Amino acid sequence: MSQQGHAVAGSGGLVLGVVQKLDEKHHIIPEYKIEEHQAEAEVRRFLQAILQARSSLQDEMMLLKEHPHANELLPILESHHLMLSDPELQAGTKCFIEQEHINAEWALKRCLHGFEQTFEHMEDVYLKSRKADIIQVGQRIFQCLDVSPLAVNQAQSIMLAADFAPSDVVTMWRDGVAGFVASQGGKDSHTMIVARGVGLTGLVGAQGLFEQAEDGDILLLNAEENTWVINPSPDECLAYETQQHDLDKKRDALQAYATQSSHSRDGFYLPLLANIEFEEEVDIALQYGVDGIGLFRTEFLFMQSDTLPSEAEQAAYYKKIVQGMGDKPVTFRLLDVGADKLAHVQTLFGDYDGENPALGLRGVRMLLRRPEILKAQLRAIVGCGHTSEISILVPMVVSVEEMQAVRTLLEEAKLELNIQQNIALGCMIEVPAAALIADDLAKVSDFFSIGSNDLVQYGLAVDRSDEHVGYLYDANHEAIKRLIQMAVDAANQQHIPITVCGELAANTAWTKTFLAMRVSGLSMTARHVLAVRKQLRDL
Ligand code: PEP
Ligand code: MG
Repeated sequence: MSQQGHAVAGSGGLVLGVVQKLDEKHHIIPEYKIEEHQAEAEVRRFLQAILQARSSLQDEMMLLKEHPHANELLPILESHHLMLSDPELQAGTKCFIEQEHINAEWALKRCLHGFEQTFEHMEDVYLKSRKADIIQVGQRIFQCLDVSPLAVNQAQSIMLAADFAPSDVVTMWRDGVAGFVASQGGKDSHTMIVARGVGLTGLVGAQGLFEQAEDGDILLLNAEENTWVINPSPDECLAYETQQHDLDKKRDALQAYATQSSHSRDGFYLPLLANIEFEEEVDIALQYGVDGIGLFRTEFLFMQSDTLPSEAEQAAYYKKIVQGMGDKPVTFRLLDVGADKLAHVQTLFGDYDGENPALGLRGVRMLLRRPEILKAQLRAIVGCGHTSEISILVPMVVSVEEMQAVRTLLEEAKLELNIQQNIALGCMIEVPAAALIADDLAKVSDFFSIGSNDLVQYGLAVDRSDEHVGYLYDANHEAIKRLIQMAVDAANQQHIPITVCGELAANTAWTKTFLAMRVSGLSMTARHVLAVRKQLRDL
């Protein structure tokens, strides 16, 4: 019997593949059969891993004794040390190896699963929560068994995990993975945005799937309708083939729009631009015939390394993007780390530990806190040797002063590098405050760009990455419409261009509204440009 369910959001596409579950650290736990005569060596390998895990834990405990929070942390590690010596854990795993002739990792995984189930069914809330300790102890042993981190090349694999970072999506795409499913995540989370950008079929917020699926199960992902089926029946597979065929036909038909201009039937030109995160997306964008890059999320360059890229490294990277786009315009969005890209803020900026990162040091706030980083980025952009039109967008603006401070540094950078070319400085309207004071911001900005993803998040107080409130994340809410209208009115009044660069730009139900509002451009995931252009040309 097949099992099926729903997810909060999908990146588009259909795929049939084989389940590969990943643990919390995105490790693949290898599962394979061994010969009877190999069992003894396999048990030895397992026991050695336990010894190694215990000794490294002891080292950590020694180090921790100096730590100011040692009193709280030490008892936890001591309990982990006891668990590592637990005779049931050792005997249970040994038994699986010897009787079922399976490798140590698989045997340990099955044994841990038994423990987790026991804790899960406990009445006592405290004991129930101890399941987390079992998982952490398991991680330590897996590490000593030398389980390799996410590095995959299985074209048929669909990766399942609790969550994936945007960079994981790129790694999977580069490695040719068939698809992915995360239990957590929302529609416009950056993980979903990147998956749509590179065209990797995936689902987020697919609760229940991870628990029900086993490694090796066949999984059907429908990221068009946000559904999944484990071990589909022959009829379901047939329906998948038919739907795949229809989807291919639809895509082929849309491809004709790649070479057409972005004009409405009555001759109004509405540039359709691409949002990109990685250099590989330049080629993808060109295949879809975009009119330029409306949003280059530069933070993804910073997220690829544990150290800050130098000005020269940045300039070289930006140059590749600009040259790749030929004579088409490129808009660079200044570094926007923070919120769901927090891990990298901590790596790069070291000293930030705000309790509520979505409302903390994010975007322009972080940049103004570290002006030397902002200045280096501005110099890299203006000095990247561009010959086409480039502009710069400031993220998370809430005040006129923030725009003025960035402009001062931009002028300095241009002066230092002797750049005379006009470089427009735009303000992202992605916080309700910015929409509300859009008339003032319009006086200090060369253009606006509406970041609808965050405008919805902050306007409706709904975390865009949280699957539990995904049902509330709705750009059609009257409050969002009014905020957008305010920003458009202020831009029109001040005669500055205004584009939309959030995911809403790709929603064809809004194309007519944007056209009527006299919006000056729509920037979206490149593959959506074709459907929007088709809609535009019919208007
Ligand atoms: C937005 O908020 O709409 C936007 C385009 O920026 P990001 O999705 O990178 O936050
Ligand atoms: Mg944003």
